Amino acid sequence: MRIIHECPRVVVVASLLLAGCVSLTPQQRAKVDEIQGFADRTTALYRVPGVRISIQPATNLNIGAMYRQGNIFVNVRMLDSASLTKVIAHELGHYVLGHEPAASVSSQADWQRAQEQRELDANAKAVEILMRADGMSQSDAVRIVIEALQRAQRAVDRGAPLTPGHLTPAAELADLKARFPEPR
Ligand SMILES: [Zn+2]
Repeated sequence: MRIIHECPRVVVVASLLLAGCVSLTPQQRAKVDEIQGFADRTTALYRVPGVRISIQPATNLNIGAMYRQGNIFVNVRMLDSASLTKVIAHELGHYVLGHEPAASVSSQADWQRAQEQRELDANAKAVEILMRADGMSQSDAVRIVIEALQRAQRAVDRGAPLTPGHLTPAAELADLKARFPEPR
Protein backbone atom coordinates (compact mmCIF):
# COMPACT_ATOMS: atom_id res chain seq x y z
CA MET A 1 0.00 0.00 0.00
CA ARG A 2 1.28 3.43 -0.91
CA ILE A 3 1.77 5.65 2.09
CA ILE A 4 1.60 9.39 1.60
CA HIS A 5 3.25 11.65 4.11
CA GLU A 6 1.61 14.77 5.37
CA CYS A 7 4.15 17.09 6.97
CA PRO A 8 2.57 20.14 8.54
CA ARG A 9 4.80 23.11 9.05
CA VAL A 10 5.90 23.68 12.60
CA VAL A 11 3.37 25.92 14.30
CA VAL A 12 3.85 26.80 17.93
CA VAL A 13 0.32 27.39 19.08
CA ALA A 14 -0.33 25.17 22.07
CA SER A 15 1.54 22.58 24.00
CA LEU A 16 -1.20 20.12 23.06
CA LEU A 17 -0.12 20.16 19.46
CA LEU A 18 2.71 18.14 18.09
CA ALA A 19 4.38 19.06 14.86
CA GLY A 20 5.54 16.13 12.83
CA CYS A 21 4.88 13.87 9.92
CA VAL A 22 1.90 11.57 9.82
CA SER A 23 1.65 8.62 7.46
CA LEU A 24 -1.69 8.47 5.68
CA THR A 25 -3.27 5.67 3.69
CA PRO A 26 -4.76 6.58 0.31
CA GLN A 27 -8.22 6.37 1.90
CA GLN A 28 -7.18 8.82 4.63
CA ARG A 29 -5.58 11.11 2.02
CA ALA A 30 -8.89 11.16 0.14
CA LYS A 31 -10.66 12.14 3.37
CA VAL A 32 -8.20 15.02 3.83
CA ASP A 33 -8.94 16.25 0.29
CA GLU A 34 -12.67 15.96 1.00
CA ILE A 35 -12.56 17.98 4.22
CA GLN A 36 -10.21 20.56 2.72
CA GLY A 37 -12.76 20.98 -0.10
CA PHE A 38 -15.55 21.39 2.46
CA ALA A 39 -13.45 24.00 4.29
CA ASP A 40 -12.74 25.83 1.01
CA ARG A 41 -16.44 25.93 0.09
CA THR A 42 -17.28 27.21 3.58
CA THR A 43 -14.69 29.98 3.64
CA ALA A 44 -15.72 31.09 0.12
CA LEU A 45 -19.40 31.22 1.14
CA TYR A 46 -18.64 33.19 4.30
CA ARG A 47 -16.15 35.42 2.45
CA VAL A 48 -13.31 34.81 4.91
CA PRO A 49 -9.69 33.80 4.26
CA GLY A 50 -9.12 30.09 3.67
CA VAL A 51 -8.20 27.67 6.42
CA ARG A 52 -5.60 24.95 6.17
CA ILE A 53 -6.37 21.43 7.34
CA SER A 54 -3.34 19.89 9.10
CA ILE A 55 -3.25 16.27 10.17
CA GLN A 56 -1.68 15.67 13.57
CA PRO A 57 -0.33 12.52 15.19
CA ALA A 58 -2.76 10.73 17.51
CA THR A 59 -2.69 11.71 21.17
CA ASN A 60 -4.31 10.27 24.26
CA LEU A 61 -6.29 13.47 24.81
CA ASN A 62 -9.89 13.29 23.71
CA ILE A 63 -9.43 16.02 21.10
CA GLY A 64 -10.59 15.23 17.57
CA ALA A 65 -9.69 18.56 16.05
CA MET A 66 -8.89 22.11 17.03
CA TYR A 67 -9.14 25.47 15.29
CA ARG A 68 -6.27 27.91 15.78
CA GLN A 69 -5.45 31.02 13.79
CA GLY A 70 -6.36 29.95 10.28
CA ASN A 71 -5.60 26.28 10.79
CA ILE A 72 -7.70 23.27 11.69
CA PHE A 73 -5.53 20.65 13.33
CA VAL A 74 -7.09 17.22 12.97
CA ASN A 75 -6.13 14.16 15.01
CA VAL A 76 -5.24 11.49 12.43
CA ARG A 77 -7.66 9.09 14.16
CA MET A 78 -10.57 11.37 13.19
CA LEU A 79 -10.05 10.52 9.50
CA ASP A 80 -11.56 7.08 10.13
CA SER A 81 -14.32 8.33 12.45
CA ALA A 82 -18.02 8.51 11.65
CA SER A 83 -17.98 11.89 13.42
CA LEU A 84 -15.47 13.50 11.01
CA THR A 85 -18.02 15.63 9.13
CA LYS A 86 -19.49 17.03 12.34
CA VAL A 87 -16.09 17.73 13.84
CA ILE A 88 -14.87 19.67 10.80
CA ALA A 89 -18.13 21.63 10.54
CA HIS A 90 -17.83 22.44 14.27
CA GLU A 91 -14.24 23.69 13.91
CA LEU A 92 -15.26 25.76 10.87
CA GLY A 93 -18.03 27.12 13.11
CA HIS A 94 -15.41 28.36 15.59
CA TYR A 95 -13.55 30.02 12.72
CA VAL A 96 -16.58 31.68 11.14
CA LEU A 97 -17.66 32.91 14.59
CA GLY A 98 -14.22 34.45 15.20
CA HIS A 99 -13.34 32.26 18.18
CA GLU A 100 -9.68 33.14 18.54
CA PRO A 101 -7.98 32.55 21.89
CA ALA A 102 -8.93 35.27 24.38
CA ALA A 103 -6.20 37.84 24.92
CA SER A 104 -6.65 37.68 28.67
CA VAL A 105 -8.91 35.86 31.08
CA SER A 106 -9.30 36.75 34.71
CA SER A 107 -9.66 33.21 35.98
CA GLN A 108 -9.78 29.57 34.98
CA ALA A 109 -13.49 29.50 35.84
CA ASP A 110 -14.16 32.46 33.52
CA TRP A 111 -12.23 30.75 30.73
CA GLN A 112 -14.19 27.54 31.24
CA ARG A 113 -17.58 29.29 31.13
CA ALA A 114 -16.69 31.30 28.04
CA GLN A 115 -15.28 28.25 26.31
CA GLU A 116 -18.33 26.11 27.08
CA GLN A 117 -20.56 28.75 25.48
CA ARG A 118 -18.31 28.90 22.42
CA GLU A 119 -18.62 25.12 22.03
CA LEU A 120 -22.43 25.32 22.11
CA ASP A 121 -22.37 28.14 19.56
CA ALA A 122 -19.97 26.21 17.31
CA ASN A 123 -22.30 23.19 17.33
CA ALA A 124 -25.19 25.37 16.19
CA LYS A 125 -23.02 27.08 13.56
CA ALA A 126 -21.99 23.62 12.31
CA VAL A 127 -25.63 22.98 11.40
CA GLU A 128 -25.76 26.20 9.36
CA ILE A 129 -22.44 25.41 7.64
CA LEU A 130 -23.56 21.88 6.70
CA MET A 131 -26.72 23.36 5.19
CA ARG A 132 -24.95 26.13 3.26
CA ALA A 133 -21.69 24.43 2.19
CA ASP A 134 -22.95 20.86 1.79
CA GLY A 135 -26.53 21.60 0.75
CA MET A 136 -28.06 19.54 3.55
CA SER A 137 -31.59 20.00 4.82
CA GLN A 138 -31.77 21.37 8.36
CA SER A 139 -33.01 18.06 9.73
CA ASP A 140 -30.12 16.13 8.09
CA ALA A 141 -27.58 18.67 9.35
CA VAL A 142 -29.00 18.58 12.89
CA ARG A 143 -28.94 14.78 12.78
CA ILE A 144 -25.22 14.74 11.83
CA VAL A 145 -24.40 16.85 14.90
CA ILE A 146 -26.76 14.93 17.21
CA GLU A 147 -25.34 11.54 16.21
CA ALA A 148 -21.77 12.72 16.76
CA LEU A 149 -22.67 14.06 20.22
CA GLN A 150 -24.38 10.76 21.04
CA ARG A 151 -21.23 8.85 20.01
CA ALA A 152 -19.14 11.23 22.13
CA GLN A 153 -21.41 10.70 25.15
CA ARG A 154 -21.13 6.90 24.77
CA ALA A 155 -17.33 7.27 24.73
CA VAL A 156 -17.44 9.38 27.91
CA ASP A 157 -19.74 6.80 29.49
CA ARG A 158 -17.07 4.18 28.72
CA GLY A 159 -14.44 6.33 30.47
CA ALA A 160 -13.10 8.72 27.82
CA PRO A 161 -12.08 12.10 29.29
CA LEU A 162 -14.26 15.15 28.63
CA THR A 163 -12.73 17.28 25.89
CA PRO A 164 -11.20 20.38 27.54
CA GLY A 165 -13.52 23.41 27.50
CA HIS A 166 -16.63 21.35 26.80
CA LEU A 167 -19.72 20.51 28.82
CA THR A 168 -20.68 16.84 28.67
CA PRO A 169 -21.79 15.77 25.17
CA ALA A 170 -25.26 15.11 26.65
CA ALA A 171 -25.48 18.73 27.85
CA GLU A 172 -24.32 19.99 24.44
CA LEU A 173 -26.96 17.77 22.85
CA ALA A 174 -29.69 19.28 25.04
CA ASP A 175 -28.60 22.79 24.02
CA LEU A 176 -28.64 21.87 20.32
CA LYS A 177 -32.09 20.28 20.56
CA ALA A 178 -33.40 23.41 22.29
CA ARG A 179 -32.10 25.53 19.40
CA PHE A 180 -33.50 23.19 16.74
CA PRO A 181 -36.69 21.74 18.15
CA GLU A 182 -38.13 18.82 16.20
CA PRO A 183 -41.17 19.82 14.17
CA ARG A 184 -44.34 18.48 15.75
ZN1 LIG B 1 -15.01 23.24 19.69
